[in-house]
Parts: sequence; structure tokens; C-alpha cells
Amino acid sequence: MEGKKVRVRFAPSPTGPLHIGGVRTALYNYLFARQNGGTMILRIEDTDSNRFVPGAEDYINEALAWLGIKIDEGVREGGAYGPYKQSERRDIYRKYTQQLLDAGKAYIAFDTPEELEAKRNEIANFQYDASTRGSMRNSLTLSADEVKSLIDAGEKYVVRFKIEPNRDIVVNDLIRGEVKINSSILDDKVLYKSADDLPTYHLANIVDDHLMEVSHVIRGEEWLPSAPLHVLLYEAFGWTDTMPQFVHLPLLLKPDGKGKLSKRDGDRLGFPVFPLEWHDPKSGEISSGYRESGYLPEAVINFLALLGWNPGDDREIMSMDELVEAFSFDHCSRSGAKFDFEKGKWFNHKYLQEIDDDTLADLFAPILADKGVSGFDKAYVSKAVGMVKSRISFVKDLWEQAAFFFVRPGSYAEKDIKKRWKEDTPRIMGELIDLLESIEDFSSKNAEDIVLSWITAHEYHTGNVMNAFRLAVVGECKGPHMFDITELMGKEETIARIKIAIENIKPINA
Ligand code: GLU
Repeated sequence: MEGKKVRVRFAPSPTGPLHIGGVRTALYNYLFARQNGGTMILRIEDTDSNRFVPGAEDYINEALAWLGIKIDEGVREGGAYGPYKQSERRDIYRKYTQQLLDAGKAYIAFDTPEELEAKRNEIANFQYDASTRGSMRNSLTLSADEVKSLIDAGEKYVVRFKIEPNRDIVVNDLIRGEVKINSSILDDKVLYKSADDLPTYHLANIVDDHLMEVSHVIRGEEWLPSAPLHVLLYEAFGWTDTMPQFVHLPLLLKPDGKGKLSKRDGDRLGFPVFPLEWHDPKSGEISSGYRESGYLPEAVINFLALLGWNPGDDREIMSMDELVEAFSFDHCSRSGAKFDFEKGKWFNHKYLQEIDDDTLADLFAPILADKGVSGFDKAYVSKAVGMVKSRISFVKDLWEQAAFFFVRPGSYAEKDIKKRWKEDTPRIMGELIDLLESIEDFSSKNAEDIVLSWITAHEYHTGNVMNAFRLAVVGECKGPHMFDITELMGKEETIARIKIAIENIKPINA
């Protein structure tokens, strides 16, 4: 590839929300482009008018922007090779279709769906190809006059690519190596349909790769079957010298077994398969997205990057810049990558730890407001989230972990009462109140020293006393370091909570 400028394209069809596998394809294109000082193109492949879904294109743009996958040339960005939306390139496709017809490399076919169906019933494994095209209704079997009068009469037709049988076609793939297939297994692909005056995916995709000077076609493995046609059409147009390098990425597999990851797996196992929430315009159905589920874009990027690729060492946490630097197709796996969504959560957890407490407090603020909590200053909220953040995978988990900092326990965990709240606990907690009252410097270390010496002096059971204390303040026997909690809450609140607990907790005699 020396000397050839790297130009890659992400070429989604706006047929619904972009799937997380599509996001990974976009990401690998992006990493490769950046690494090579190349260009990342976003091409909208909307030639299949039947499958067009309103809102899908905006969704793609929004998802890529959220993830920090920057587009250099595209519908919104512009560029010298536009338009970047295929439905706006009809003239171009018409011209190239005509070029193939003129060269005898394509032909016009009038067969109706009914006629094709009849053939399929008549011939087992019917395929429209060199062995059957001679018995069909097309410009190879009809005279030029007949063809002209059919077209003039408005008869619908398609243009098919005339594929020569029995030729080995070699596809060079950076991950898969040389893939050879015989042309006889291919049918004469439809390139253009007069019904909507639009090309099919096959023609538009390939013509555009050429015109946009695409150097590498990086896409999901499911597109590998289209690669031989790419080769043949480049050849038919005389563009073989500029044939792009193919890279077919391994599939994303179900987390718990074989087969391709689907939306149903996400519904079944409870994780999103789309980057952003999607509201289906037809059914009204809402599908969850990574963004709305509380994932940080950096975590999603890091997670996806490692699904099917590794840096060749044991690094896991990598920023976009580090990924750009380390990325290589040499370390892409050939086999599918299991979609380990627990690992996705782990990445989010890791990235949340990197967020400073003040920022985390800001992210937590709407949740607090939603829970009706007010009156706490920013410093208090920051310290509270700082103490529990090691326990969260999502910002929303902060509520479960830190609610007690903001609301007094409404009830107490039964199993902890059973274990830690004995007949004499209220008396000991009463003594603890007196002790806490007497402490001037309520900071964590000082309060801890004083309380622990008191426990020792009275030969109390440290575990029982400390856990009863915790139960009274937190409502259950969990949470960060006890004296860090009380330092933040302050003496008054701590003592108030112990008093309430003494009144409300009744020992449970198992
Ligand atoms: N429009 C195809 C898609 O939806 C593009 C495949 C390709 O990248 O060639 O993925």
C-alpha cells in the first residue's frame, strides 16, 4: 500500500439504529485512518428505498459524535468527493450502468417476479447466471428492437452484471489472507432497477469506493461474500490498479454461546446492543442504548476496541489516542469475538474511577434531585461520592451506595439486626452517644482512636459494637470506612441517628 493515501469509509445503510457491531466497524476504520494520517469518510448507503427508516441517519451521526469517532468527509462535513448520500448520486450510477451495458458487461433483464418464481419451481437451485440467462427474457435473448420497444412501453427492468463462469476470483484480505472463490457460484447480480431508478447496493457501493478513492474496505465479516463482486466490477470498469485492500472483521458473537449477537440477546440478558436509545418510528418500541444506560463514551470505545483486537500486550485500559497508536490488523482475530457485556461494565467502572469527585457529584445531582434530596452543599456530595465510587459501575449506582449520606435509614436490615443488635446493644449505644458527645475533634482518625480505646477499655466486642454503630447510622452493615462517614455527616447527625436506632430497632430472637 506504499504511497497510497489511506482513505477509509464507514458506509451504513439507514435502515434502523446503528448496531453496536456497526459501531465497532466504524471505530476500526477510524483508528486505522488516524494512525495513518488518512481520511475517514461517512457514506450513507440509502439506495434500498424499501428499507429506509426516518431518523436513522441522524441517529448514526449522533452516535458517532457521542463516541468521539470523528468524520472527515460526509453528508454533514462535506468534502471533495460528494455527495456522500447515495440517493443523491443517481446520475453517477446511471452513467456507470450505461458504461457496463455499452461494453457488453451487463445486460437488461425484463423477467417479472412471477417469471422468476416459475423458473425457480421448474429448475432446482435455479440461479440467474451463464447457465440460465440464455433462457430468460433479457437483452441477450431479445432483439435490440424488442428491448427498445419494451422499455419505451414502460416495462420494468433491471440491469444485471454478466458474470463469466469458471473463473477463480482472489480476494486479498488483511485478516483472512487470500480468499479464493469460483465465479460459477455467483449469480448475475442486479446492479440497477428501473422501477425506482436506483442502483442496488452492489453497484453503488463499488462505484463509490472507486470514485471516493477508498484505499481500504474495512467492514464486518458478513460482507465477505460481496468481495468477489467488488473484484469483478473493478475489473469490468478497468479500475483493478486501484482495487482497495479488504479487511473483514470478525463477527460479534452472543455472550453465552455460538451465533451472531442480536438484539434479542440484549433483551434476554439485559444489556443494550445500540449506542443510543432508539425510538422506533413505526412500532414506537424503545430499545435501550449505552449512553442512556449510563456508559461513558470512552468506556464503550475501549470495550469495543478489544472485541476482536488486542494490543499485543496485556494492556486493557486504553484511551482513544493509545488505541490509535497501537491499532493493527495483525492483532485482529479471525474468529468471532464473544460479546462479554460484563466486561463492558467493568470498563465503565474503571473509567468512572478516573472522574474527579466534583464532576461525579455533578453527574449525581440530577439523581439526587429526582429523589427529592436537597440542601447538601457540593463539597458534601463530592466527599460522599468519593467514598463510594469504588463500588459503582454506573453513576446511577451512586444512589444505592450513598443514599444514607442524604436520608436517614427508614428501616434496618433484618439479618444485620439478628447478628449485631443484642439485648444490651441499646445500653452500649447509649454510652457511645455520650462518648461521641465528648469528642471535640470529630475527624475520622481522632474519633476512631477514641472510640476504639473506649471499646478496649470496656472489653466490648469490637465487631459487635462497630457493626451496631454502622447499622444505626447506615441502616445496614455495609459502606465505606465508618469514621469517614461520621466525619462527613458530623457529630449531630451521627448522634441523632443512633438515638433513632435505639428507639426503633428491636432485637430479633432467632
Ligand atoms: N451499506 C453496507 C452496510 O450497511 C455497507 C457494507 C460495506 O461496508 O461495504 O453495512
